[in-house]
Amino acid sequence: MNRTICCLFQAALFACSPTRNDSADSGDTAPQPYEAPAQITTVQDGWLRGDLHMHTDYSDGWDTVATVIALAEYLEWPEFLEHHPEYEGSGLDYIALSDHRTVDQNSDPDFTSERLVLIPSEEFGSNGHANTPGVSSLVEHDPDGDGTTLDDIQSAIQATHQQEALFSPNHPFSPSIMFPWDVQDFDTLEVWNSGWILASPPTTQEDLDAWEASNGTASGTYRRAIEAQDLDADGQTLTWYEAMLARGIHVALVGGSDRHAIVLPGFPTTYVHAESTDLQGILDGMRNRHTYVTRTPASAQLLGSITVEDQVYQWGDQVPVPAAGAQVSVELRIARAEGGTARLVQGNHVASDEALESAQLGQVVAEEPISSADHLLSYTFTATAGDWIYPMVLEPLFAPGITQEQQQIVLDTATIAAESGDDAMDIATAVASLLDTDLLGNPDQCDPDDWQPDMLQCSLADTEGLSSFFVPDMLDRAMNGWMEGGQVTEWSMGAVASAVLFVQE
Ligand SMILES: [Zn+2]
Ligand SMILES: [Zn+2]
Repeated sequence: MNRTICCLFQAALFACSPTRNDSADSGDTAPQPYEAPAQITTVQDGWLRGDLHMHTDYSDGWDTVATVIALAEYLEWPEFLEHHPEYEGSGLDYIALSDHRTVDQNSDPDFTSERLVLIPSEEFGSNGHANTPGVSSLVEHDPDGDGTTLDDIQSAIQATHQQEALFSPNHPFSPSIMFPWDVQDFDTLEVWNSGWILASPPTTQEDLDAWEASNGTASGTYRRAIEAQDLDADGQTLTWYEAMLARGIHVALVGGSDRHAIVLPGFPTTYVHAESTDLQGILDGMRNRHTYVTRTPASAQLLGSITVEDQVYQWGDQVPVPAAGAQVSVELRIARAEGGTARLVQGNHVASDEALESAQLGQVVAEEPISSADHLLSYTFTATAGDWIYPMVLEPLFAPGITQEQQQIVLDTATIAAESGDDAMDIATAVASLLDTDLLGNPDQCDPDDWQPDMLQCSLADTEGLSSFFVPDMLDRAMNGWMEGGQVTEWSMGAVASAVLFVQE
């Protein structure tokens, strides 16, 4: 199945009859006083929220540049905030429009925003995709017309860097558009593409064999990640990240909605710690690997202080340690994830790609329940050069307070998403029951007073025709279910930050 359709399972919604679900009323509607959850990383502290991966009608997106930008600003609209106070102060700060093989969207007259930092970008490539935030001119994937080769990929990375832009492989384990190219000088890695378990089964050994037969040998780190067959494609990407860390390759983790239509930008969200609230600040923040990815703009936030001999570092840093090793104190601070689980994942250097094949990668070395809206996990260990560590958060699959009937909807949606593989139709069928299809194509009929917590909610910012929808938190958790051992668990992927790598002093 074509990935575009895959990303765009929504397209198939037209084929589904409306099955509006009115029965799952949550019952008690008495207004509760709203208490804002703690924020630990805010714009004022230099932490900017954004979405690095979206399409417009300059390629295969369905909306204009103006509409996509309006949708990215929508989480700050008073009409939205009135119903979703949890988004107060948690809108997006930057976006990139990454259309396939073009940069023309970046010079559209509507490519402007009073609120957002706009990052010029391109989704590079055909046989292997990569975003190139910061580009000013097109980066070619097949300049000599003989298909993309390793040489072409290497030249493209060079051309991207010459423009002082970043090269960031996208959905690298999406079986129909893999990125096994044997290169390592890219800057960031899209670990989270659309919903964590949405629409992508893992890439198999057979997929890789077929790819290698036409394109040459995959990188050793990619080959190691193929062993992870009990995860979804994004889980495999996280395994790839660990394999790279084990070989001393240290890049930033980013995410992207890969929005083509229907859903809003910012799901997932990439936080970047930027010295300045502008294009340069954001690109430098990503270059410095000061990033983490989280499920929504209003969900879990991460901070870290990593202290070695009175020097304090943050997630994403390279931390020098003496040959004999050093005592390390990690303080992981997590906001807005009460009821979830915090994990630290740690691993070591592996001497060669051959050794990687049988090597153990990340181990969970600390895990504890998140007991408050601003939680601190402390952990100490002795690090030697080549060690690495990163934090992640899991959230309950069932949002607090939902009814049993709603739990069933969430479980069904997550299970179908996980089992559907590349068959977009299965997911479309599941999601169709969560959507009032009368509103598709009729944005003028959108009335916030009709919004329900267990249905997709029409957006007032999309006035051009197809309509776009906010996915309420309880359903968003289903799209981001966390798999272990090939099964959907009782958890959703919550957030993950770039790793600290310890290097020889
Ligand atoms: Zn792509
Ligand atoms: Zn894309």
